[in-house]
Amino acid sequence: MLALLYLTMQVFNTNAALKKFIADCRANNKSIGFVPTMGALHAGHISLINRALDENDIVVCSIYVNPTQFNNPDDLENYPRTLETDIALLEKAKCSVVFNPETSELYPEEVVADNFDFEYLESIMEGKFRPGHFKGMATIVKRLLLAVQPDKAYFGEKDFQQLAIINDLVRREKIPVEIIGCPIVREIDGLAMSSRNVRLNAPQRHAAAGIYEALNELKERANSKDLNKSLAKAIETINAHPHLAVEYLEIVDSGTLLPINDWTDAKSARAFVAVLVGQTRLIDNILLY
Ligand code: AMP
Repeated sequence: MLALLYLTMQVFNTNAALKKFIADCRANNKSIGFVPTMGALHAGHISLINRALDENDIVVCSIYVNPTQFNNPDDLENYPRTLETDIALLEKAKCSVVFNPETSELYPEEVVADNFDFEYLESIMEGKFRPGHFKGMATIVKRLLLAVQPDKAYFGEKDFQQLAIINDLVRREKIPVEIIGCPIVREIDGLAMSSRNVRLNAPQRHAAAGIYEALNELKERANSKDLNKSLAKAIETINAHPHLAVEYLEIVDSGTLLPINDWTDAKSARAFVAVLVGQTRLIDNILLY
């Protein structure tokens, strides 16, 4: 019976069904990898599933659009939802389990975020421009980690600040899981894959490739040209595209995410950007050195 369970992908909608499956896995000494997502899956998500499949016996992928991490109600309403296609993609990838719960399973009482305090890490960049976003994200990730009890959980560096906060979360809450960061998967023209890309019209989609071009130019100037001039130039380059408007572009220490003013201020630096492309907000980042 159990061997059969592992052959076909299962879709669970309740904590109870998931719990039973996890207990069976544990009883049979199966290692569990976990990939939390909000669905509208693309090759970036599938890269996490593939990595998890390489490193674990069983892979659980959750699909849940978490209301408490949306600071903008229109963004929540317009977030793409493609459950059937997602399930087909996961089946093709040989994922073991999809967990697709109703909100009442994850928020049995009020639909509100827990009151985490990630201090500096949630005061900058995404935390500054999307108030409450990280508290909502951490609330759901914590609940999912406790439900799935994975050995390893996989997150994309596309959301690098989120990854830093999740590392902080599991340390603070003493959740016994290894957090694995995975590289950003890009379209051929360099645009970071994102569920939100489907919202772009053709001219916006074309312009959006300019984000990665500007990040690459910044990388070329790192450690040689003046940091602040290079930053200003990158902002100018992105804003020169008719459909693009930079919300923030920052160069920070890769480890601490503290801002730097000079290339010598950090052993390793990363640039982070958020850009409005019409009504759609895209983020990206790049390792500079
Ligand atoms: P989301 O569905 O947007 O919440 O993303 C689920 C997971 O997939 C997160 O860990 C993201 O960082 C990751 N992810 C999203 N886009 C990409 C990408 N282009 N490359 C790698 N990972 C990604």
